[in-house]
Amino acid sequence: MSKEVRIVANWKMNKTIEEATDFISKLPEDIKVVSIAVPSTALYTCAQMKPPMLSLGAQNIHSETHGPFTGEISADMVKDAGAEFVILGHSERRHTFNETNEFVNKKVKQALLTDLQVILCIGETHTERDAEQTTEVLKKQLFEGLFELNMEQLKQVSIAYEPVWAIGTGQAATAQMAQETHFILRNLIKEKWGELASEKMFILHGGSIKPENIAELTSQPDVDGVLVGGAALDPSTFSQIIQNAGNAKK
Ligand code: PEP
Repeated sequence: MSKEVRIVANWKMNKTIEEATDFISKLPEDIKVVSIAVPSTALYTCAQMKPPMLSLGAQNIHSETHGPFTGEISADMVKDAGAEFVILGHSERRHTFNETNEFVNKKVKQALLTDLQVILCIGETHTERDAEQTTEVLKKQLFEGLFELNMEQLKQVSIAYEPVWAIGTGQAATAQMAQETHFILRNLIKEKWGELASEKMFILHGGSIKPENIAELTSQPDVDGVLVGGAALDPSTFSQIIQNAGNAKK
C-alpha cells in the first residue's frame, strides 16, 4: 500500500485575496487532502470558498493572546479567520526576524491552547552542516521548540525539516541526505517522547521541492510529506506536485 503523503504549501508574503481565491478555484477536484498556509489577509475569504479537501493555515502568530504588539496577529485571530494550523519557527522568521527557540516554544504552546495544529520548522544552515553540527542544531530546535509539551499536545504537532541552504535556492537535499536526516530526527523524537510518538510524528521535508524531485523524496521511508514554497505559487505546478506525489484520487 502506498503511503499517504502530506502536502503543505507555504505562500509566504505572496498573493492578494483575489489571487488566492483564483488559485484555489483552479485546484483540481480529484485530489486528496492538501494544506495551504495563505497570507492572513486572505484567510477569511479563502475559508469561505474552499473545497473540503483543502485545509488552510497561517504562517505565523504571536505568543500572546492580545495587547500592545503593533503589527502582530494572535492565534485566536487566525483561528477565527479560518486557520486550522499554523507554521512556526520557519527559517525566514528565525533568521530575518531573530526568533529564538524560546519564543517559538511560547508560540507553539499558544497555538495548541487555541486548538490550532502546529507545523514546527527546523533546519541547519550550510555552515552548520559543513561543521558537522546538523544533529546538534536540530536537536536543540526540536527539544527547545517543543519544550514542556505533553503527549496529547504532541499529537497536534508535525515537524518540517527544511535545511536553510535548500530554501528558495533551487538546491534541494538529495533523497539520501533527506532520509538520513529524517531518520536522525525520528530517533531524537524517540529518545525524548518514546517509540509511539516517533512512529506517529509526521516529518515533512522542505526546501526547493518541485514536480521533478517530489516522488523520489517522498518515497523515502521517513519522509512523510512536504512543505512547498516557490513551487506552490502557480496552480499548474502545484497540481503537478500533488499528482507526482501520488495524491490525486485514483
Ligand atoms: C519554504 O519556504 O518553506 C520553502 C520550502 O520554500 P521553497 O520551496 O521555495 O524552497
